[in-house]
Amino acid sequence: MLLLDGKKLADELKLEIKQSVDALVAAGKPAPHLAAILVGNDGGSLTYVGHKVKACEQVGFQSTLLHFDENITEEFLLNEVKKLNENPSIHGFIVQLPLPKHIDADKVLMSVDPAKDVDGFHPVNVGKVTLGLPAFVSATPLGITKILERYGIETSGKHCVVIGRSNIVGRPMSILMSGQSKTGNATVTVCHSRTKNLAEVTRQADIIIAALGKPEFLTADMVKDGAVVIDVGTTRVTDPTTKAGWRLKGDVKFDEVSQKCAAITPVPGGVGPMTVVSLLLNTLQAAQE
Ligand code: NAP
Repeated sequence: MLLLDGKKLADELKLEIKQSVDALVAAGKPAPHLAAILVGNDGGSLTYVGHKVKACEQVGFQSTLLHFDENITEEFLLNEVKKLNENPSIHGFIVQLPLPKHIDADKVLMSVDPAKDVDGFHPVNVGKVTLGLPAFVSATPLGITKILERYGIETSGKHCVVIGRSNIVGRPMSILMSGQSKTGNATVTVCHSRTKNLAEVTRQADIIIAALGKPEFLTADMVKDGAVVIDVGTTRVTDPTTKAGWRLKGDVKFDEVSQKCAAITPVPGGVGPMTVVSLLLNTLQAAQE
């Protein structure tokens, strides 16, 4: 079994990004500048934004964190987005989700300039990706394609089963896997909560991408021998033996599935670190354009 080590790969990619930043700066250009808008104090969001800011420092990017109170109005937030759209020193920015309920997240995401939308959530970028045109691919799907590419996983002609159809993971992943690219050309089945006989479907898969957010959902009896398994799930489960009182669990029952499959991503240390590094790759691309 091959462990698809996202942490190790992310570290390698960060070194490559750092070299590109050094080359930009040596050519008299500014270092890439990523901004993040965070509204409120959601624990998960604080952690994720913290990882992104730290990753920026590691590769020599500039970063700006705009942290607002959870009671700000939608109008205020839209104006902050407008300011970032118009600020020439910012190459790309993200609006960390979830937003408070009184703010229309779709409206905010649509107000981001697609040329600075390094999360790849704007319909212009989603549409371009769907058409196979150059665009910002959203970070988690981009990270997964990098894992497949760097570990030399053959996807062409393979049957890929994606579990989950969310706009940020399952749906874009299914589009990328079926697209005409080095890590595409697969025959793709998309499963969701209404799928019947899911285990029968997953047992036919050469590649399974589990993105449903149900800890240890995918068990060994749902996987055929020699499949490649990508575990996107990250759910915090209570664990009194850890300092934090919780730990991250993936959507795959790692101990038993890893005995059966050809390659697998761990949780943590698989898709998660690659998501952060993909955001850096998109920001570098924005700065180079
Ligand atoms: P989401 O928006 O909640 O979507 C979950 C999807 O799974 C939905 O399409 C849902 O179907 C489907 N689903 C739920 N239960 C199912 C079942 N029993 N059988 C088949 N399909 C089922 O979640 P998400 O944002 O895509 O995230 C999925 C997981 O990935 C979460 O654990 C999240 O924390 C994690 N994640 C990790 C990263 C990372 O960087 N590692 C990034 C993003 C997300 P319906 O559409 O029918 O409801």
